Amino acid sequence: MAAGNWKMNGTSPALSEIDALFEHLSADGPEVLICPPATLLALMTERAAGSELKCGGQDCHVAASGAHTGDISANMLVDAGAEYVILGHSERRSDHAETDAMVRAKTETAWVAGLRSIVCVGETEAERDAANTLGIIGGQIAGSIPDGATGENLVVAYEPVWAIGTGRTPTLDQIGEVHDFIRARLEKRFGEGVGRSVRLLYGGSVKPDNASEIFSVSNVDGALVGGASLKAQDFSAIIAALR
Ligand code: PEP
Repeated sequence: MAAGNWKMNGTSPALSEIDALFEHLSADGPEVLICPPATLLALMTERAAGSELKCGGQDCHVAASGAHTGDISANMLVDAGAEYVILGHSERRSDHAETDAMVRAKTETAWVAGLRSIVCVGETEAERDAANTLGIIGGQIAGSIPDGATGENLVVAYEPVWAIGTGRTPTLDQIGEVHDFIRARLEKRFGEGVGRSVRLLYGGSVKPDNASEIFSVSNVDGALVGGASLKAQDFSAIIAALR
């Protein structure tokens, strides 16, 4: 799976980027998703109609509706054509003080609305330097993922905070260590079958020139891509590396 996170980038002219992606998509190819800003979501799903491109949101409120000025609900994302929602991205955790408990509650709300959740976890550089990476990831996995996870409703993205937007990536061994750990934790909690079926994405400075080697790591089922998803040429090269 290749999931693009456009973050707070793009106005309507940026939608033309997705046209160049369509020829790289097929029903038997890797699943491809773009999560544009909320203002572009409905326009993107209309433009992608009839193609294999899926669209998603970048966050949703924990409540189904109500007095929450400026927020967006899971049902609104569905109404705009979303199939997925990214939850607990490190930028949400830092910019909006989102806790594991909030991410867990949002994930439950998203599931009720019929969305699949991409729950993000990842350590800071200080936490890695303190040899606490697996402790942090274990806590985030336990705290951010609700009971009832399945391979259908959950995707987990491992995104080291220090690798996001920096051009730095962990070694392949470091990626493998964390992905194996997440897989083992999911199998222990949800049973082997479910734990094995949840897709695990790596995210953090994935580019056309490092995608193939990252995809060769065990328990890496794809990527969550920020900067390189904004340009169709780069994102399609990453999609091609998944084939
Ligand atoms: C992200 O923010 O999800 C991300 C992976 O960003 P980038 O690819 O730009 O590092």
